[in-house]
Amino acid sequence: MDIALVTGASSGIGLCVVEKLIGMNYKVYGFARDFAKTAFTHVKFFPMVCDVTDTNMLVNQTQALLKETGRLDVLVNNAGVGFFGPHETIHPEKIEHMVNTNLLAPMVLIQVTLRHLKKSEGFIINMASTAALEPGRFGGAYGATKAGLHQFGQSLFAEVRKSGVRVVTLYPDMTMTPFYDETDFAPHNDHPCHITPECVADAVAQAINQREGTVITQIVLKPQRIGVERKRN
Ligand code: NAP
Repeated sequence: MDIALVTGASSGIGLCVVEKLIGMNYKVYGFARDFAKTAFTHVKFFPMVCDVTDTNMLVNQTQALLKETGRLDVLVNNAGVGFFGPHETIHPEKIEHMVNTNLLAPMVLIQVTLRHLKKSEGFIINMASTAALEPGRFGGAYGATKAGLHQFGQSLFAEVRKSGVRVVTLYPDMTMTPFYDETDFAPHNDHPCHITPECVADAVAQAINQREGTVITQIVLKPQRIGVERKRN
């Protein structure tokens, strides 16, 4: 059976991707710090507690998984955090936390899994953001981590395409998930003003289902209309 690993598998987009991949008959391993927040269980879902910012834990958990499965077909680098506001108000620890979660962890995880992904001619799917492509007032540091992931994905595909590895970067705009639980803004509830995590999971499936020989390297998802809700404190 084909094996997938999804980071940030306890919530939002990652959890929808897990469900989608299970529906496509993958055995799915998920990394996150806290699976207590989801009631989702399935015989083909294997949650593993892993803080991706702890590089030793990330490497050890991944090696344990590869030892158990002996293969990896799909890696989804989805775990991510965002802190927003005027740049001088974002604590250096939060900046470091974003860089480590959104950029360092995917690069490390890809390094650890690449031999297996070359063997399976598998997929690397990186969850960037439209913030990687457009200037975002009050989100410069977050956007920079996603722009780094975008750039890394482009270079990586140039490096590994001859090995048969497919590298896909997704750029979702505002998606209705718990990502906005701690922010002072959120996507507008009107359905044309946000995209859904299910739509992002569908895009992942579309990239995986593409005919062999054609690679969908980038997918941008935007809501039909622009609408942001400011939360009152
Ligand atoms: P979410 O519901 O908050 O999910 C984030 C996931 O990342 C959770 O499963 C969380 O699990 C995991 N995570 C965070 N830090 C982690 C760590 N140190 N180690 C392991 N797992 C960690 O948000 P989401 O919207 O689904 O976000 C998923 C990805 O999409 C992120 O990369 C985000 O930047 C990107 N994205 C989101 C939007 C949006 O509008 N929502 C738009 C564009 C891109 P634990 O807390 O249990 O560890």
